[in-house]
Amino acid sequence: MESKKILVTGGNRGIGKGIVEGFLNDGNEVLASCRDLSKFPIKSDRLTVAELDISDSKSVDKFKKIVDDFRPEILINNAGITRDNLFLRMSDDEWLDVINTNLTGTYRVTKLVTKCMLKQKWGRIINISSISGMMGNSGQANYSASKSGIDGFTRSLAKELGSRNITVNSIAPGFISTDMTEDLINEDLIKKIPLKRMGVVEDVVSLVLFLSSDDANYITGQTLVVDGGLFMK
Ligand code: NDP
Repeated sequence: MESKKILVTGGNRGIGKGIVEGFLNDGNEVLASCRDLSKFPIKSDRLTVAELDISDSKSVDKFKKIVDDFRPEILINNAGITRDNLFLRMSDDEWLDVINTNLTGTYRVTKLVTKCMLKQKWGRIINISSISGMMGNSGQANYSASKSGIDGFTRSLAKELGSRNITVNSIAPGFISTDMTEDLINEDLIKKIPLKRMGVVEDVVSLVLFLSSDDANYITGQTLVVDGGLFMK
């Protein structure tokens, strides 16, 4: 595809870092957000890095000027957290932190870019949700709710923005090897995955790049699952 301007949240590690690298390798210009600029691991003359905490509306307000100057054509809402606990033990803070970061954070950043995309009459929004939001997962009532919320948000936005040539999709990964899942890997889990392995960051990155390309021009409002077959409807 011709070079595009892409905003990726949580670009400093895990899946987000892979997405930033994937877009840079394809010759694009990337604005990556992270919470601690001093720790950002990638350097490129086509990369701008800026501080953003998506759970904090003041931080999002500060980030707005950078987004307005950059004018993203593609947004990847990747940043997210888990605060796992069994429902009966789950605290209000564990619930609220996850909803505020994953769901409201996605809403906040999307709000920043939408006007710009409307003016450009072209845009791609890709939200990283999770199979946990589709199949449910014990100990993740907060996370599952936030991620299925993202899928519903994706479908509504796809309906609102379709006539303006903006597509909105979500990607629901299964278990991908990153810091988020390092304590979860075990043989029983691998046995349940038809492809008999954890996913790697590149498995998600290739789908992000596809959905951002002209090959995906007619795909909107979808949640695409990348999970080695773990969840089948
Ligand atoms: P990591 O924990 O490795 O990375 C999470 C990223 O999100 C980090 O860059 C982190 O920044 C950033 N982040 C967290 N909270 C905030 C915040 N309040 N404001 C801004 N940035 C924030 O996770 P993964 O790479 O594994 O996950 C990426 C996305 O993929 C998440 O949305 C996750 O829910 C989703 N996902 C992951 C799966 C997996 O198996 N790994 C499966 C399904 C979905 P910092 O370094 O500052 O903490």
